[in-house]
Amino acid sequence: MGVAENLAAVEARIAAACAASGRDTSSVRLLPVTKTRPAADVRAALGSGYTRFAENLVQDGLAKAEELANTPATWALIGHLQSNKVRDALAFASEFQALDSLKLAQALDRRLEGQGRRLTVLIQVNSSGEDTKYGLAPADVPAFAAQLRPLANLDVTGLMTLALPSDDHSLVAACFERMRDVQDRLRDADGAGWDELSMGMSRDLEIAIAHGATTVRVGTAVFGAR
Ligand SMILES: *Cc1c(COP(=O)(O)O)cnc(C)c1O
Repeated sequence: MGVAENLAAVEARIAAACAASGRDTSSVRLLPVTKTRPAADVRAALGSGYTRFAENLVQDGLAKAEELANTPATWALIGHLQSNKVRDALAFASEFQALDSLKLAQALDRRLEGQGRRLTVLIQVNSSGEDTKYGLAPADVPAFAAQLRPLANLDVTGLMTLALPSDDHSLVAACFERMRDVQDRLRDADGAGWDELSMGMSRDLEIAIAHGATTVRVGTAVFGAR
């Protein structure tokens, strides 16, 4: 199957998952993850009407964005970012979904200030508790969020996570439930906001949607095995 057919199949999965939990299909955004895939695949997705894409590595994202500079493609960085790569990240990304330290937030804010622009940011949460995963422990997010408040150039709109890679539905669901708990605590503190929940990938997007995902980041199911 080609990219267009795969996108249609994933859209159908999203629609079914939304229907199953009484949600409007338009409340979930499909963010195609193009990592390791050639620019031709991005062009195919552009042909299906997608303009927003995600990469997990700064150098790859930068290269692909340059290759596709004459298209409407825009880019989200969804992988770990080191403070010394902030400049390269901001050269291609208009959204960053993996914020996990105050030092990084300050470095981003400082450079954005100099450029006179803002960046949409999500806090990465380690909802599975795995040592190998980046992100804040759920309990640490409210205090971290409070520290971000003075950083005027960051639009912190929500949270991102990767669930446990498990075939056990209940363990995956528990990760997404923790995200809802964190979101509830943030809203209790702030009154509103924190609308964005970026969670769910090729294997677990239905479970994520059942637990309130607003963005699903899908690579394999759209572009094939890496
Ligand atoms: C690769 C990646 C995805 C997409 O994973 P698939 O299993 O290919 O759908 C989602 N989020 C992040 C952070 C990734 O690095």
